[in-house]
Amino acid sequence: MAKSYYETLGVSRAASEKEIKAAYRKLARKYHPDVAPNDKTAEARFKEINAAHEVLSDAEKRRKYDKYGDRWEYADQIEEMERQQSAAGWARQGGPGGNGGATFEANVGDFGSIFENLFRRERGGPRGQPPRRRGQDVETPVEVTLEEAFAGTTRTVRLQGAEVCRTCGGSGEVAGAICHNCDGSGQVLRERRLEVKVPAGVKTGSRVRVAGEGRPGTGGGPSGDLYLVVTVLPHARFERKGDDLSVEVPVPFVDAILGGEVEVPTIDGRVLLRIPELTQNGRQIRLANKGMPVLGNANARGDLIARVRVLLPEHLTAEERHLIEQLRALQGGRAGAGAGQ
Ligand SMILES: [Zn+2]
Repeated sequence: MAKSYYETLGVSRAASEKEIKAAYRKLARKYHPDVAPNDKTAEARFKEINAAHEVLSDAEKRRKYDKYGDRWEYADQIEEMERQQSAAGWARQGGPGGNGGATFEANVGDFGSIFENLFRRERGGPRGQPPRRRGQDVETPVEVTLEEAFAGTTRTVRLQGAEVCRTCGGSGEVAGAICHNCDGSGQVLRERRLEVKVPAGVKTGSRVRVAGEGRPGTGGGPSGDLYLVVTVLPHARFERKGDDLSVEVPVPFVDAILGGEVEVPTIDGRVLLRIPELTQNGRQIRLANKGMPVLGNANARGDLIARVRVLLPEHLTAEERHLIEQLRALQGGRAGAGAGQ
C-alpha cells in the first residue's frame, strides 16, 4: 500500500496547518529539482510531497482524505450515495458531520460497499441512480361493523411517508453544512391522512387495495400499493356465513302449531314472515336476497335464514290450562307423550 500523505510529509494525523506547512517547506527545499538536478528519485519524491501538500493544506480536501483515504476525490459521490441509501431507510454507518472522532480506517471500511455500489451503478444506469424498483406494499388492519360491511363505509388511514425536506429542498445541505432538519438525508417523514372507501360486501380477510399508496419506489420505479385488511366485528343478532346471514326468530307455540305471521329483523329493516302450520322448533326458513351484498356485484345479495325457536308460555291462566288439559285428553290422555314439540 502506498504511503499516506501524512507519512510523505513526515507529520502526524493530528498535525496543525502550521506544522504541515513547515514540513512541506523543509522537504521541498531538500528535493527541489534545482537542488538535485537529474536525480530521478528526488524528482519522484518532490512530486509526492507536492501532491500531499496540495491535499493536506486545503481544509476541505484534508477532511475528505481523512474520511475516505485514497478515494477522497469521490467523496461527493460517496456522500450522495450515502444520502440516497439513508433516505431509502438504510442504517447510517456514521455519515458526514456524524462522528467527528471516527478513525480513518474505520470510515474507509464503512464506505467500502457504498463505493462498490457507486461503480456498479456507473456501469449500469445513469450515475448515482439507484436501480429502478417498485416500492413495497403496505398492509394496515381495519375493523368494520356488520352494518358497515353491508352498506360500505370509509376509513381514515394514517400513513408515514417520506417527503422532500423543505429546509434544504432535498439537497441535504444548507450553506455547505449538513441540513439539521433532515440530518442530510434530503427527506423527512410526515404523517398523511388518507380517506379510503371500504366497499359493501367486505368480509373478514378482505383486502381493500389503494393503488400507489404503499412505499415509494426507487430510481423512478412506481410506488407499492396500500392494502386495508378487513376484520368484520361479530354482531349481536346476525350470524354470517359467506354472503348469507342467519337470525333466530322466536315463534309463539300456538303460531308454530296453527301457522301465522311473525316479524323478522333483517340487516336493513323488518319483514313479515309467514309461518306454516306445524312448524317444528329449529326449522330454517330461507328469505331470498335478504342477506349481505355480494362484494363487487351491486345487484346481488345473499339470503337471510330465519331459525325458528318455538316459545312455550311461561305462565298459564286457569282457562288456558283447562284448554290444554282438554287437548291432552283428546290426544289419549297420555301424560308427557305426543303433546307440544
Ligand atoms: Zn434538509
